[in-house]
Amino acid sequence: MGKSSSSSFAQRKLVLCSLPAYNRRVPDQIAPIDSSTRYCAVFGHPISHSASPAMHNAALAQLRLNWRYLAFDVHPDNLPEAIAGARRMKFIGLNLTVPHKLLALKMVDQLDDSARVWGAVNTICFEARLANGEWRPLISFPTEVPEDIRSRGFNSDADAIVRSIQEDLGLKLVGTQIVLLGAGGAGRVAALKLASENVAALYLVNRTLSKAEAVASEIRKRFPQVNVSLGYPKGPVDLLLNATSLGLKSDDASPVDRSQFELRSARAVYDMIYRPAETPLLKAAREAGCRTANGIGMLLYQGARALEIWTGRPAPIEVMRSALMKNVYGR
Ligand code: NAP
Repeated sequence: MGKSSSSSFAQRKLVLCSLPAYNRRVPDQIAPIDSSTRYCAVFGHPISHSASPAMHNAALAQLRLNWRYLAFDVHPDNLPEAIAGARRMKFIGLNLTVPHKLLALKMVDQLDDSARVWGAVNTICFEARLANGEWRPLISFPTEVPEDIRSRGFNSDADAIVRSIQEDLGLKLVGTQIVLLGAGGAGRVAALKLASENVAALYLVNRTLSKAEAVASEIRKRFPQVNVSLGYPKGPVDLLLNATSLGLKSDDASPVDRSQFELRSARAVYDMIYRPAETPLLKAAREAGCRTANGIGMLLYQGARALEIWTGRPAPIEVMRSALMKNVYGR
């Protein structure tokens, strides 16, 4: 697989000069691109601000895999062809970001339980058959990859949301009361996943009420033990979670209607937005005495899980975290 031990110093220098600074710190671990290099990628539209290549390429170097992780701007109309192309070119796998996660549900050959249960695909693993007929990720075929390849869709976002909330805020979710702002793609998955974690109550707030109603009715059907309602609570809660896109731009309105809910009524506030590092919501929450965390942990853990699906090996979390921090915050 990796050819770093046999490559000349000159070759390595050439490759390293074309790589971002974070990769230059681990020169012995980077194999030059050659005919055995394998590829992963993220597809999105737009894609220019994706931090995933930085995070994944640092991890691939650490794992000494002669793979590269790329980013492509794929218009949703072209998503089927782009996935088919990656499969034909024997890519290891793909990540999908806005606006592809729902569309891809119908475009993969197989759905893993994680994608079926949460209703969205953010990771595709390409698989081929061993001699015994068993389908395996393409890492199991180091020399010759068969032509007969299938795509398997996974969801690594749902677990990542919960892991990040628990680790970054030190919050145990069972029995908690949560206000969830937003019922788009990320808000819906968060609501369902939190319900599955046996939270006591979920208060759903969204600009388009019908979307929050649809999520509430899905929760009532699938997780009847959870007390789900629409609108802000009257009393204090354990967590307020922002899953709207308000806060991405500096002149965005607050995602919280302060006339209906005071931030000091929440013990903790999590904002899925990670750029800027401290959104106006998080700043106000910190000033109100709440524990706060942004969505960088969610991005990290969904990426780590995707890597584990492709490689079958534990992801080098701290290497990925520091590559992300450097890429997103320059530190
Ligand atoms: P989405 O499907 O487009 O949903 C956007 C949500 O924001 C909807 O609830 C929408 O309300 C609400 N919204 C947008 N503009 C609004 C406005 N002007 N006023 C009130 N509400 C508004 O996007 P998504 O994929 O769910 O992503 C939501 C947020 O989570 C984004 O900020 C995204 O960057 C972040 N995110 C972070 C991660 C991570 O790894 N940290 C992963 C995924 C998403 P309507 O339903 O009324 O349109």
